[in-house]
Amino acid sequence: MQPTLGLKRQGGCDEENSTEGQKVALLDLSYSQLQELLLSLGEPGYRADQLYRWLYSFLATDFIRMYNLPQGIRDRLDRIADICTLAPLQEIVSPDELTRKVLFALPDGETIEAVVMLYDRRNTVCLSTQVGCALGCVFCATGQSGFTRNLTAGEIIGQVLHFARALKEGGQRITNIVFMGMGEPLMNYEATWQAIKTLTDSRGYNLGVRRITISTVGIPPSIERLSRERLQVGLAVSLHAPDDSFRDRLVPINRRYPLRELMAACRGYVKRTGRRVTFEYALVQGVNDSRQQAAQLADLLDGLLCHVNLMPLNPIPDSPWQASSKKRVRRFHQELSNLGIKSTIRLRRGIEIEAGCGQLRSRRDGSPEATNCLFP
Ligand code: SAH
Ligand code: SF4
Repeated sequence: MQPTLGLKRQGGCDEENSTEGQKVALLDLSYSQLQELLLSLGEPGYRADQLYRWLYSFLATDFIRMYNLPQGIRDRLDRIADICTLAPLQEIVSPDELTRKVLFALPDGETIEAVVMLYDRRNTVCLSTQVGCALGCVFCATGQSGFTRNLTAGEIIGQVLHFARALKEGGQRITNIVFMGMGEPLMNYEATWQAIKTLTDSRGYNLGVRRITISTVGIPPSIERLSRERLQVGLAVSLHAPDDSFRDRLVPINRRYPLRELMAACRGYVKRTGRRVTFEYALVQGVNDSRQQAAQLADLLDGLLCHVNLMPLNPIPDSPWQASSKKRVRRFHQELSNLGIKSTIRLRRGIEIEAGCGQLRSRRDGSPEATNCLFP
């Protein structure tokens, strides 16, 4: 029987049934789609459970070792399906070896970055959701490189599995995920959400949903959608300015979704989920770091269950924007505290390995060397 799913396939195989010569990307599939695929191959439903475990518990990279599946189905899967293993092109490790950043090649030759950060009690992966980003924040390397395409769910999951396999050798697991790599996750909602559902599925990797944080530039309709999901992930909003005039300059999407709409969406999220929102605020010398702006920010966040992460901007080359001095960062932090707003000054983890997403890729492309995201 032929696989009947209208599923996206990946390129390059000698598959028997495909009209396009492409394989089914297994990591793109939900549990029920996997079940459907196996049924279409004439296999009983419980095979989906076995295959799911191989993919997400045993972290298999091929079908050969799936010993509890009959040889025939292993061969068949090998011909028609693919476990999206991303090819690492380059890895940079911090001197303390606790932060690793990997540049991956995707099946179509595009490149993305992901980072793993090891802590005492958690291992966090920072994931990309798009190749590039269309939103063009002026201080962001990814934004400056433009938008190429969305990642598939499988490509998002593939980043996690790469690090999960490496950690497994030392008896460790990925415990936390932050969507703070390249791209805007809420502009690739479906694939991001599909990846989250798969990674949190108790039949598979079983990651705690409360240990996942989506960082967004602030897309109000999608924040609302997120707040109504059954799985409630953490929300971080990249605010960077307390009023529209400055935010319009730093974060162009603010012209479409001004602060009034963004804050209403954040308040709705807190109300519906009972979870606090984290606001990311990169301090740019002389742009958004005055005492008065701290007061404006306190005003904006008044009464909202939230926390502010402050960090000096990571400057990108040929850009007029510079990081705030330590003194101004401390002053901003103190001012917020005086006004009753909790904030933390974050120092970028692994800055010595250019752990900001976008940087490694930019260098390889020959486009402006720069950095994107901040890691708590
Ligand atoms: N698109 C999403 C997630 C990816 S960017 C977002 O914008 O939130 C992850 C974080 O890195 C965001 O908070 C973003 O504002 C921040 N960032 C990007 N470039 C930066 C830079 N040069 N310095 C400091 N923070 C930066
Ligand atoms: Fe895109 Fe986020 Fe970079 Fe803005 S900061 S350009 S939204 S990746």
